[in-house]
Amino acid sequence: MTTPDITVYGAHWCPDCRRSKQFLGEHQIPYNWIDIEQDAAAEEFVIETNQGKRIIPTITFPDGTFLTEPSNSELAQKLGLKTEAERKHYDLIVLGGGPAGLTAALYTAREAIDTLVIERAAFGGQAAGTEKLDNMPGFHDGVSGADFSKRLRKQAERFGVELLQAQDVTGIHSHDNYHCATTADGSQYSAQAMLIATGSRYKRLNVPGEANYSGAGVHFCATCDGPFYKGKRVAVVGGGNSAAEESLLLTKFADHVTILVRGSEFKASQIIQDSVLSHPKITVHWNTEVREFLGEQSKLNRIKVVNNQSGKEEEMAIDGAFIFIGLVPNTGFLKDSPVLLDKWGFVITGHSLIHRRERPDGFQDREPLLLETSVPGIFAAGDVRDDSTKQVVSAAGEGSTAALEIREYLKMV
Ligand SMILES: Cc1cc2nc3c(=O)[nH]c(=O)nc-3n(C[C@H](O)[C@H](O)[C@H](O)COP(=O)(O)OP(=O)(O)OC[C@H]3O[C@@H](n4cnc5c(N)ncnc54)[C@H](O)[C@@H]3O)c2cc1C
Repeated sequence: MTTPDITVYGAHWCPDCRRSKQFLGEHQIPYNWIDIEQDAAAEEFVIETNQGKRIIPTITFPDGTFLTEPSNSELAQKLGLKTEAERKHYDLIVLGGGPAGLTAALYTAREAIDTLVIERAAFGGQAAGTEKLDNMPGFHDGVSGADFSKRLRKQAERFGVELLQAQDVTGIHSHDNYHCATTADGSQYSAQAMLIATGSRYKRLNVPGEANYSGAGVHFCATCDGPFYKGKRVAVVGGGNSAAEESLLLTKFADHVTILVRGSEFKASQIIQDSVLSHPKITVHWNTEVREFLGEQSKLNRIKVVNNQSGKEEEMAIDGAFIFIGLVPNTGFLKDSPVLLDKWGFVITGHSLIHRRERPDGFQDREPLLLETSVPGIFAAGDVRDDSTKQVVSAAGEGSTAALEIREYLKMV
């Protein structure tokens, strides 16, 4: 591992330091972190650099320059990230540069459909932060999420996709046949078609150790990471359908599965509960909450839990933990738009739009296409879509399907 060239000087309580670190992290830019309250020489350096003032964060760069208390857009500019598009109008705007968005974009750009992708963090989405993708077809030894994402981005660039980074889409609106996206800096971009590929994120417990061991013992997907635990002991956190179903899946690999449920019963369907409760490899601990993930040499080996009725704390020896406490779609920016969402906030597409509901406006003369939303010309693909399978390959597959549907749609308008 090389030493990062960027250093962030700050203190643990400083919110602007956290924001800058989060920005660098989201863009997968390596940096050193120095807490000036733990390092007198670093504190002196900060005071000297800021002409007698103790301003944090102070961030130094390899070219010898520094920024104090930079905004995210100042940081983006300094790092050379492209935050402004070349034009205001495109054939297609893709929101989100994860596997679904980038795959769609490379398909459309390859067919000379003028495509802009707007991404708020690092290209590659959730996949970019994944230590190893072991179930990617074509990579027989697996591939690191970072490597896969780099390849995907390069491929999109080869076909001429225009990529914007460090830009949060804050809202969308449509008029006539045009669809417009507004970004956090107030810019507006319009297009004849739009693809929502903003993905989702797993809810976290936000307890000590969770972030440190994420991908190295703490996981969020049994299909993805369960096979690493053949013959081992794992804990599952959660009491809903996902936790119960994924626990059953984990019994195919692990020797033993301990389910930690915060309440005194499951919120899963009866049939799944029965299977879980009668499974010889599964033990359930009720009224149990996780306090901390613990380990040695960057490997998880214990979990500290508390019984929320008795207050009794204990440590359990485990090899891995799987957290299933919910998935949140990145659709907040759609709250004022007519794009229909399901009760959890995922985007509804295709046949589901007309089953059980009145036909949305604009679909009197034709059926919505498979990945089209309730607004004609706006499509959705990947984890953000209801009923999607939350896997890289299927997100990429939906991206390609959406691209082909968008090609047909653009012939109609
Ligand atoms: C820890 C972890 C491990 C995983 N392991 C595996 C695995 O081994 N195998 C597997 O198949 N799957 C795995 N997955 C699941 C897989 O990563 C996802 O299914 C896949 O990345 C979904 O792709 P997507 O493009 O739909 O969404 P995402 O990957 O979520 O990408 C969406 C993108 O949109 C951006 N975005 C969101 N909102 C906005 C906005 N308002 N403006 C601009 N941009 C926005 C996000 O920053 C993100 O880059 C894992 C997921 C996690 C979290």
